[in-house]
Parts: sequence; structure tokens; C-alpha cells
Amino acid sequence: MKIIKSDCLFCKIVTGDIPASIIRKTDRVTVFKDITPQAPVHLLIIPNEHFTNMAEVAKADPSLVGEIFAVADEVAIDSGVDTYRSNTNTGAGAGQSVFHAHLHLLGGRAFGWPPG
Ligand code: AMP
Ligand code: ZN
Repeated sequence: MKIIKSDCLFCKIVTGDIPASIIRKTDRVTVFKDITPQAPVHLLIIPNEHFTNMAEVAKADPSLVGEIFAVADEVAIDSGVDTYRSNTNTGAGAGQSVFHAHLHLLGGRAFGWPPG
């Protein structure tokens, strides 16, 4: 029985109640295109179960964090990028706007450091 939060946007993408451009879906992870892409390739990799952020995933199930990063690399290669930025925002002050854990995968352009 998966943990789904009824008022969560990304839970609704996992269940299919809200449409998204889904790139890959496994038993544990869903990948879809970010609706406001910040790079030629901008995908979101999320756990199918609801967690507020990636730290919560790490504490509950470290192997799921590993799976999210492994899937990110696979979809990056499938998207034709061999260098990319993977990023997770934890808390509103760091820029988190959707409170269902997600890893941003950005590629296809150069990135500056430090990020803004
Ligand atoms: P963050 O600000 O780190 O929480 O990232 C949330 C991301 O979700 C942003 O990059 C948004 O553009 C993206 N987003 C919000 N709503 C949707 C949606 N319906 N489908 C796809 N991506 C979305
Ligand atoms: Zn959720």
C-alpha cells in the first residue's frame, strides 16, 4: 500500500489524476518533464510514495535515494546529455515550492557556480 497525500500535486501525477509528460515510471520512481524548464533537458525524478523532501526519503529508505540518482543518470543518458546538474531544494528558503520529494535533472547547457 503506497503512501499518497490527497492534496499533493506530485502524488496526483503519480496516480495519473493530473497529466504530466512522463518519461519513465517504475514501481518506486516516476520521471517527468518539468513544466517550466530551466534548461533544454529539465526532468524531475520523484519517489512514487509521498515524502516531503529528499532528506525524509534518505531517513526512511536510503536505497530509494540511490535508485533516484541511478534513474537520473539513466534518463540523462537517454536524453543525450553526459554532463548534467542534479539538484534538490529542501525548504521554502532554499527554493522548494512543491513539498513532495524530487530531484531536478538539468542538462543541455552550461551552468554557473555558485548557483543563484
Ligand atoms: P522546487 O521549486 O524545487 O520545489 O521544484 C518544483 C518544480 O516543479 C518546479 O521546477 C516547477 O516548475 C515544477 N512543477 C510544478 N508544477 C508542475 C507540473 N504540474 N508538472 C511538472 N512540473 C511541475
Ligand atoms: Zn506527494
